[in-house]
Amino acid sequence: MEILSFDMEENHHDRQKRSSLGRTSIEYQSATNILTKPSGFMNTYDYTLNPYSGCSFGCSYCYAAFFVRDKQQQEDWGTWVRVKDNALELLKKYRRKPLHGKTIYMSSVTDPYQPIERKLHLTRCLLEELVNYHDVHLVLQTRSPLVTRDIDLFQRFSVIQVNMTITTDDEKVRKTFEPYCSSIQARLNAITAIQASGIPACITLTPLLPVRDAHTFAKRLVATGVQKFIIQPFHPERGKFVAGTRDSVRNE
Ligand code: SF4
Repeated sequence: MEILSFDMEENHHDRQKRSSLGRTSIEYQSATNILTKPSGFMNTYDYTLNPYSGCSFGCSYCYAAFFVRDKQQQEDWGTWVRVKDNALELLKKYRRKPLHGKTIYMSSVTDPYQPIERKLHLTRCLLEELVNYHDVHLVLQTRSPLVTRDIDLFQRFSVIQVNMTITTDDEKVRKTFEPYCSSIQARLNAITAIQASGIPACITLTPLLPVRDAHTFAKRLVATGVQKFIIQPFHPERGKFVAGTRDSVRNE
């Protein structure tokens, strides 16, 4: 397995600046910061942490696309990812003033466990840095079963919650709105494993899409052992918030 070390200068120069992974183009770029003070509905957290920009899961309802300034990139959401290749260097700067007790949400506009993470281990490197040097309170949000890879790290955080998003019980609906995400069962299995390993877990039904059999769905959710659920309705309109459901998906 290839594991890139994100703080080695030689890698910085040698690494290809562009590549592709399946249908996704991957670009490596330096970021100016790695922790962002959130505004709006995220402002109960001290920081958000996004190792990547863009997201190859490309959920059709994704609001994160609205935070991209470039109109073409909004249109192409799901086909491009930018890797913040200096992310670990930026986070290391906080060693001088540790982030003890700070609340961090990872991630607000990307999925930290999207397919490129399997190869790069960038999210894992950042988690190692946080757990080794800072006593933060972490909420980790994903739609990816790859999250189970880092159970060993999660167990070292004193305050953590892992959220798995599951939006429907119907694979047809899932394939319509989230065609590049893992199956519903794979996500249920992953959050079951997280919960069984003693890590506080939550299932986020955000947004809740059409459900085929609500009773059986509820039983499957409860069978994971998870006791915390967050439900958000599907917002067909944009409303006051800058982000909302994208035009193309309203028709679906
Ligand atoms: S996984 Fe999250 S960030 Fe990625 S496309 Fe889906 S909703 Fe957007």
